Amino acid sequence: MNLPMASKQSGKVYLVGAGPGDPELLTIKALKILRKADIVFYDDLVSPRILGVCRKRIQMVYVGKRLGIHSCLQNEINDKLIEASQNHNTIVRLKGGDPSIFGRVGEEYASLLQEGIPCEIIAGITTASGVASSLGFPLTHRDYAREILFLSGHKKDGVNSDAFQNLNCVGKTIVIYMGLNSLPLIVSELITAGNAKTTKIAVIQNATLDTERVFTGDLETIETIVLENEVKSPAILVIGEIVRFYEEMKFLKNGCASILSPI
Ligand code: SAH
Repeated sequence: MNLPMASKQSGKVYLVGAGPGDPELLTIKALKILRKADIVFYDDLVSPRILGVCRKRIQMVYVGKRLGIHSCLQNEINDKLIEASQNHNTIVRLKGGDPSIFGRVGEEYASLLQEGIPCEIIAGITTASGVASSLGFPLTHRDYAREILFLSGHKKDGVNSDAFQNLNCVGKTIVIYMGLNSLPLIVSELITAGNAKTTKIAVIQNATLDTERVFTGDLETIETIVLENEVKSPAILVIGEIVRFYEEMKFLKNGCASILSPI
């Protein structure tokens, strides 16, 4: 690999995580960088309110899915970031959750460094962590799940079916990003792989926002539940015994609430 030519004076690009939705889950580091940004490239953020922390009259550039087919767009985004670095000091590329988790940050990071442009990845709270705290369950628990798997319901070029074909859910918390549309396929693959139909699964829409909706069921019932309740994106799937823990804690919390509330 050749080292890039030292580029002419260029700004610095920050690849920043915006968190899962609740604007208060933005990190202090991300907040500070957004406040000094000269230009911000953003996509379909779950929380547009976060853009409100930027200075007035800076350039805000939408580069999300609504513009077209995403796989074609990635090179264009890379080019836009490179171009912006020649005309601005602080360039922000804002992404939902943590940019390093299913966020295509690697492509942008590599293309910038190949051009000799200074850049830095700023961690964000990923949806899995946001949803766990928002609902009140841990991702790992010695009695329920000693391992966690973060999977994508999609591959770069289509449905990610092979990830589920040999997957044994026992003892694991499995979090599936971008899995809502392929839920029927995921469920059938997991059953074919030998998992019990009673394996617990939760689907969470709009996690960490006021509009959050949570549905729980098992591999046999979840598709009907999702259809009946018209669950929409963004939604994340959580599979495993930890969903049972969540239900147990919810039951206890409701008990606390009825003790505390006045008659
Ligand atoms: N980098 C992001 C994930 C990007 S992939 C992160 O770390 O969270 C996009 C997927 O994330 C969505 O399809 C959905 O599965 C999930 N997602 C993001 N925000 C969400 C939210 N507020 N509620 C539920 N799912 C969400």
